Amino acid sequence: MGYAKTYAVALVGISGHVIEVEADISQALPGFVLLGLPDTALNEAKDRVRSAAKNSGKPLPPQKLTINLTPARLPKRGTGFDLAIVVAALQAAKLLQPSGRTVFLGELGLDGSVRPIPGVLPAARAAWEAGFESVVVPEHNANEARLISGLEVRGVSCLAEVLTLLGADTEQLRFPSSSSTRPGSEDEAVPLMPADMADVAGQEEGRLALEIAAAGAHHLLFNGPPGSGKTMLAERLPGILPPLSTDQALEVTAIHSISSRGAPRTQLMRYAPFEAPHHTASAAALMGGGSGIPQPGCVSRAHRGVLFLDEAPEFHRNVLDSLRQPLESGSVTLDRSTASATYPARFQLVLAANPCPCGKNSGRGLECTCTSKERRTYFSRLSGPLLDRIDLHITVPQVSAAELTSTGSHEPSQPIRERVVQAREKQRERLADFGVLTNAETNGKILRGKLKLPATMTQSLSRAVDRGALTARGYDRVLRTAWTIADLEGAESPRSDHLDLALYFRNMSRT
Ligand SMILES: [Zn+2]
Repeated sequence: MGYAKTYAVALVGISGHVIEVEADISQALPGFVLLGLPDTALNEAKDRVRSAAKNSGKPLPPQKLTINLTPARLPKRGTGFDLAIVVAALQAAKLLQPSGRTVFLGELGLDGSVRPIPGVLPAARAAWEAGFESVVVPEHNANEARLISGLEVRGVSCLAEVLTLLGADTEQLRFPSSSSTRPGSEDEAVPLMPADMADVAGQEEGRLALEIAAAGAHHLLFNGPPGSGKTMLAERLPGILPPLSTDQALEVTAIHSISSRGAPRTQLMRYAPFEAPHHTASAAALMGGGSGIPQPGCVSRAHRGVLFLDEAPEFHRNVLDSLRQPLESGSVTLDRSTASATYPARFQLVLAANPCPCGKNSGRGLECTCTSKERRTYFSRLSGPLLDRIDLHITVPQVSAAELTSTGSHEPSQPIRERVVQAREKQRERLADFGVLTNAETNGKILRGKLKLPATMTQSLSRAVDRGALTARGYDRVLRTAWTIADLEGAESPRSDHLDLALYFRNMSRT
């Protein structure tokens, strides 16, 4: 007869909640009961816990063991509860000292090894914020937990190490062979420093468009032949975006931690992330999903960063359509029969398209074999709601060999990023009353209301609308971009040359 309590963390989306793991041992017939909304993986914990305890030299007594995870209303998923369960069970059986207010995270192997789990960063953060000062985590994830400053983190590679930490006699313990406690997963390669604008030769308009997009958080479409540098430009957008604050970095790193399947990470992501799914990607890969716990997809991994769709018209139509939810709400909710999860997904969208399906319509004498119908069909896949959200449509010309190989100095990312940060600050001050932060978020009501420009200034735009050359939505998009151009120049409001440039950057569009 005995009772004990330990702590673990349940993740709901990217927020963690400390849960109590209660263990009770009674003299009834031997059995193992798990209460509190456990999913299948958690149910299998019964077998892992018994075997791991036995193979670590501390078998659980053949009595009735009841484990209760509270609060019951919280969904608890995955294998990260194993460690807290086995420690509670051994304590209830009086085989181990109480562990007080320590949170245990980790999956058990049958041999007693402790395996890495995804989501250690948000779990450790939740423990710290709930007032816990000490966590025990898989050795592989220890540096990730240490990103929470102040938290005492102990990394363990097997249950016997945990038992040693809690004062068990090492003589009686069995340590699994080291090979089984060394999972082969490599450090997930996270480029901590984005590529630099100094590498981009030529493409003056592309560079300028990228700076405007960064400054106003505008979505962007690059149109140009293969090899013209669309990808090169897009990859450099994260480097000119404002660096992430510590809170934002924790949030972004947490998403990547959850989608890492336990791969260790040792540093906070301080720069905007960049995600570039292939055009064959499924809706699930983009939005998130999978069996069991729905995993964050590309749109969430791109949160506070850039989602780049190269050859955008080649993506499946349903994949492109699915982008509407995150573009509207800044988050994505994944509903599964077993569980649902909501992940943040506020990203800047960069689309790239070739001028035609064959990509040879560059105007440089290459043979384009596409019919006009094929070209229309190609672009029509991007039509409608998606294009409505894209303020900048840039035509990227083929770069000449001379330009590509020019070694002249090109402005690096850092001074551009400083201008972007200043422009963002101006927007923040101006737009505070409207509850938005960036020009890209301003709507027609704001633009044609409080921020209305003098009619003399917008005459040419109004005429373009009258002629049918610009839609009302297109008119608003030009205004949004013009405000950003003015912010970059430190002007109080857009001048007519800013409006002209903004209109020029919609040259691709017929809307
Ligand atoms: Zn073609």
